[in-house]
Amino acid sequence: MKTEIIAVGSELLTPDFQDTNSLFLTAGLNSIGLDVSFKTVVGDDERDLARVLRTALGRSRLIFCMGGLGPTEDDRTREILAKTLGRKLVYHKDIHARIRERFRRRGIAMPASNLKQCYVIEGAEVLDNPNGTAPGLWLNKARCKVALLPGPPREIRPMFENQVLPRLAALGRGLMVRRVMRLTGLGESAMETLMKPVYASVPPGVTVTTLASPGDLSIRLTYKGAGPRAAAEALLDGLERTIGNALAPWIYSREGDTLETVVGALLKENGKTIACAESCTGGLIGHRLTGVPGSSAYFLESAVVYSNRAKTRRLGVPGTLLTRCGAVSAAAARAMAIGIRKTSGADLGLAVTGVAGPDGGTARKPVGLVYIALAHAQGVAVHRNLFFGGRAQVKFQSSQKALDVVRKSLTKRSKKVL
Ligand code: ATP
Ligand code: MG
Repeated sequence: MKTEIIAVGSELLTPDFQDTNSLFLTAGLNSIGLDVSFKTVVGDDERDLARVLRTALGRSRLIFCMGGLGPTEDDRTREILAKTLGRKLVYHKDIHARIRERFRRRGIAMPASNLKQCYVIEGAEVLDNPNGTAPGLWLNKARCKVALLPGPPREIRPMFENQVLPRLAALGRGLMVRRVMRLTGLGESAMETLMKPVYASVPPGVTVTTLASPGDLSIRLTYKGAGPRAAAEALLDGLERTIGNALAPWIYSREGDTLETVVGALLKENGKTIACAESCTGGLIGHRLTGVPGSSAYFLESAVVYSNRAKTRRLGVPGTLLTRCGAVSAAAARAMAIGIRKTSGADLGLAVTGVAGPDGGTARKPVGLVYIALAHAQGVAVHRNLFFGGRAQVKFQSSQKALDVVRKSLTKRSKKVL
């Protein structure tokens, strides 16, 4: 069943807003075995929207159109769809009563501009909107089904889950099961080489796709076909084991989790706390770790120690060491990790110092040279890295490698050393 999504709103064509609703809809559609074939973002212009709707009605069987159901002048999706379908808009007394009641509860009279939300396209079913005034619509046009939904994420999400998905399930679709394995510490071509024998053993109905960016890779396994779900899951389990055997050291998640989520869970599980001393990452590691809910259980602090003076004053790194070896050196990273561990009282002290570029590189210390050190009860491990890319990429890869050093130190094989 060809499926397409239309996001309406001129703001979505500016650099300030993103069409995130379609990602949410796509995830929900995929979960019931539906692929999305087309996505369009169109502005509020009547003729443009009418053209997009006509195209969709001509090529797709399932159309999701969202945004522009509000009370303002530029919210005209409902009217334009009615016109495109050649159908009338019919006034619904009960929608009017519901909107009036919503405003009454907030102590205000219903503004006249909301009146247009009481009109329903002839023959459409009304989809209740518990979080807003604009109801959604569900309608059939020949062999096409069209869902018209409001734009605000907190309105569309529950409506899609509670009212649209059950209607789609009733259409009796197949099954799609997806797994995302995430990896780091491996280049794209190295991954492809290791994956080559795996590709030969991919069972029918399953597709394997890989995605690579500096410092982060993912392998997506997708099963599409008939049920039962348990059989599909077993098929993916087998393939996941084969990939696991080939790429184990680099896989940090088999559930699509971020590295900081995985590291956070390991710290919690092991009852360890962490503190960071960040030079070239400028707080990025702290930012990533604190982005995980519940991180206060294990994250103590991140000191952004950019200057030499800060490294000395905050962490006790000897000035002479910095002069002799330089701030970007194994010795400095080691002293920073020890310093942050000692001053914070954390179980693990993680330090990063490097040349993020684009300037500041020399022949001996090129852009991308980054030292990462992890101090723990038994000592300190220092890693020398050379990352490629621009400043942002070097910063990200540094944070990624630092988190991965922590992950490896906490996984079963090496746990004994802590
Ligand atoms: P309202 O009653 O709020 O006017 P509406 O159905 O008319 O609702 P829009 O006016 O198109 O919806 O959008 C309202 C807000 O919802 C936008 O400012 C934007 O923040 C968000 N929004 C709209 N479309 C999308 C989208 N595709 N993805 C993410 N957010 C969206
Ligand atoms: Mg609006």
